[in-house]
Amino acid sequence: MTESSTNPTDLPILKEVSIPPHPIWPKLESAEKEELILRIKKLLKERNAVLVAHYYTHEDLQALAEETGGCVADSLEMARFGAAQQAETLVVAGVRFMGETSKILNPEKKVLMPDLGATCSLDEGCEAGEFRDFIAKYPDHTVVVYANTSAEVKAASDWVVTSGIALSIVKDLAAKGEKILWAPDKHLGRYVQKATGADMILWPGSCIVHEEFKSVALERVRKLHPEAAILVHPESPENIIEQADVVGSTTALIKAVTTMENKEFIVATDKGIFYKMQQLAPDKILIEAPTIGQGATCQACAECPWMGMNSLHNLAEILEDESNEIHIDPAIREKAVIPIQRMLDFAKEHNIGMKKKGNA
Ligand code: SF4
Repeated sequence: MTESSTNPTDLPILKEVSIPPHPIWPKLESAEKEELILRIKKLLKERNAVLVAHYYTHEDLQALAEETGGCVADSLEMARFGAAQQAETLVVAGVRFMGETSKILNPEKKVLMPDLGATCSLDEGCEAGEFRDFIAKYPDHTVVVYANTSAEVKAASDWVVTSGIALSIVKDLAAKGEKILWAPDKHLGRYVQKATGADMILWPGSCIVHEEFKSVALERVRKLHPEAAILVHPESPENIIEQADVVGSTTALIKAVTTMENKEFIVATDKGIFYKMQQLAPDKILIEAPTIGQGATCQACAECPWMGMNSLHNLAEILEDESNEIHIDPAIREKAVIPIQRMLDFAKEHNIGMKKKGNA
């Protein structure tokens, strides 16, 4: 594949994102946990609410979402699922941009989140004002942003994409001769650029979780498990992607575990995904891709600290008092819904990522 880019020299220098410590939740005895889960189930019914959880959240939340008729999914499916619900309230266990996307698609519904401070290094590293100034310099480019962005950034864009659909959309745009300004994940952008040959400018953001996978250590682990397939999320650095047997969205990686014949898998993405993988393929052996290479500080260790802010405890609290509601300025919502809807329409038209709820 060809690689082309305008290689601008005026890319913004991003401020360092402040990474919170991993939250430590009080340990529950099994009776206490059962009681808490019953309370949440009752509240979900009383509030006519449905729980939508991301694959990276704690397994208790994923299990609860499935048990109560909600959904466990990647961000594309989370958005689509929420929009198809009759429930008056959507409770989004994930990070802030996921709650915002739900609200953008469902302005008439109440959208609650266990912790409104659960953000994402990609979202944090793409401030709306700076982004608007940057894209203004490239009026001849189509602006494609990853879902991991604020409502304001989406409102300034032409397309929103998730990792499950990015390749298809960019390929389609490139075939029409469009030049692309991509934000915010440089690794995913580079992967898409290489795979499609599109002319792309890449915003220099990154995911703090995927950025910590280490290539030399991964080579070592592969030598120890020569029969294992390496599964990599494309937010990972290029030298990790190069070693992959499968590169894909969370849904694609889960599918790989269930369909490939390998017994062992080395998985380079947030370890929250292991719950769904193991549930669907209990006989497979899952190995965490190494995050600690020489000189690494390992701040995330394959576990997103913001995803970790979701727990049974704060879920019960926000359902109790219906707090932590997502609000979006109607003028921003009106603009942001256009590129999101464009993606959903493209997915429908091309039958991409359509799946039954709760499955991978
Ligand atoms: S895992 Fe990375 S991309 Fe996902 S929410 Fe956390 S920081 Fe953002």
